[in-house]
Amino acid sequence: MSMWDGIYGEIEVKRIQPFEALKLYVCPGCNRDIPIGLGHYVTVPSDAPDLRRHWHYACWERRPLDRF
Ligand SMILES: [Zn+2]
Repeated sequence: MSMWDGIYGEIEVKRIQPFEALKLYVCPGCNRDIPIGLGHYVTVPSDAPDLRRHWHYACWERRPLDRF
């Protein structure tokens, strides 16, 4: 079980629209950039909101269950 599957409570997953993507982020799924202007997800564990992360759509859908 990973932190993205309930250790820190429910994960709130929000869709960031391209026009909202104003900063460069690094996706923890693939360790590659999420460029400015690319729609993606932001995931916020309810018990640890400081651990919010930005993910490519596909990387979140395919996240390994035993990492992070
Ligand atoms: Zn990714």
